[in-house]
Amino acid sequence: MSQISIVVPCFNESEVIESFHTALTGVLEPTGRDYEICYVDDGSSDHTRAHLQELASGDPRTRYTSFSRNFGKESAMLAGLRMSRGDAVVLMDADLQHPPALIPRILELHGHGYDQVVAQRDRSGDGLLRTRLSQAYYRLVRRFMEVEVVDGAGDFRLLSRRAVDALLSLPENNRFSKGLFSWIGFDTVTFPYENVQRAAGHSKWGGRRLLNYGIDGLLSFNSRPLRVAIHVGLWLFVSALLYALWIVGNVLVDGVETPGYATLVTVIVGMSGVQIATLGIIGEYVGRIYHETKRRPLYVIRETSESGGAGGRARTRSGSALAARTGRRTGEGRW
Ligand code: UDP
Ligand code: MG
Repeated sequence: MSQISIVVPCFNESEVIESFHTALTGVLEPTGRDYEICYVDDGSSDHTRAHLQELASGDPRTRYTSFSRNFGKESAMLAGLRMSRGDAVVLMDADLQHPPALIPRILELHGHGYDQVVAQRDRSGDGLLRTRLSQAYYRLVRRFMEVEVVDGAGDFRLLSRRAVDALLSLPENNRFSKGLFSWIGFDTVTFPYENVQRAAGHSKWGGRRLLNYGIDGLLSFNSRPLRVAIHVGLWLFVSALLYALWIVGNVLVDGVETPGYATLVTVIVGMSGVQIATLGIIGEYVGRIYHETKRRPLYVIRETSESGGAGGRARTRSGSALAARTGRRTGEGRW
């Protein structure tokens, strides 16, 4: 029977990682499927790496990769997907917010022939402000993006091997997975589940990080924000022109005396606002071009269960391919 891989990015999850692993294996064993678990330690500063080493040394089906510093969840997921060898890959969080109990259902749906099976959480238990902001954000994204991104349909999903290969073949450095998942297409099925609160530890997504993530999402999928800036700029210019004509007309026809500075200040402030916004948007894109042209690797590996000798099976075909890949990547990292 086909093998499944579970990919788990972990950043400072030492409080939950053990119970997560127990829960996960407790669900996987009864399915009778051949499985592997690929943990990616995203440069944790707590004992996550030590826990992963221990888990990997106890079971050859558990493997891990550890980053040299925190590179972010997107990079961790990418590394996990590169590590995975299964015919289907399930991506999930380590904090038990993605209940392992849903895996059998996910596998069942995959069995019906779907390439992507998405577990979509509702927002029960989330703060009101965060919920409202997220909903507004997704409305905005749906208007501006060419790909479909759904609220709550995050990174808890199964991808078939060909979907994973499609994702891995995308060369960009600015990875906004929610958009990429949708971009690759394939038959996708979504089912809802009730939101679960974090088992322990705390969320790594503060307001600022979420805002940046949101901006990344909007900008990485199209250049429409640039177009919007141009439209707004043009309209403001036209209205400023009309206003100027109106003032001149007033003076010529009715002889009205207008204090000059009030209108001047309004126009200057308005126009510089538009200019700065436009410059910001252009700057973002230029920054992205600069970023992409550097072709830096998305992460640097400190150690893996393969290289650390903790896990077995280091010499399987894809294992050595991974070693070769990681070798090259770390090599690149030095430049
Ligand atoms: N995570 C990661 N790198 C980071 C931040 C988070 O690998 O820089 C992992 C984290 O360990 C967890 C998952 O991504 O497994 C989701 O993170 P978190 O629970 O903090 O996010 P939230 O559920 O609050 O959106
Ligand atoms: Mg979480």
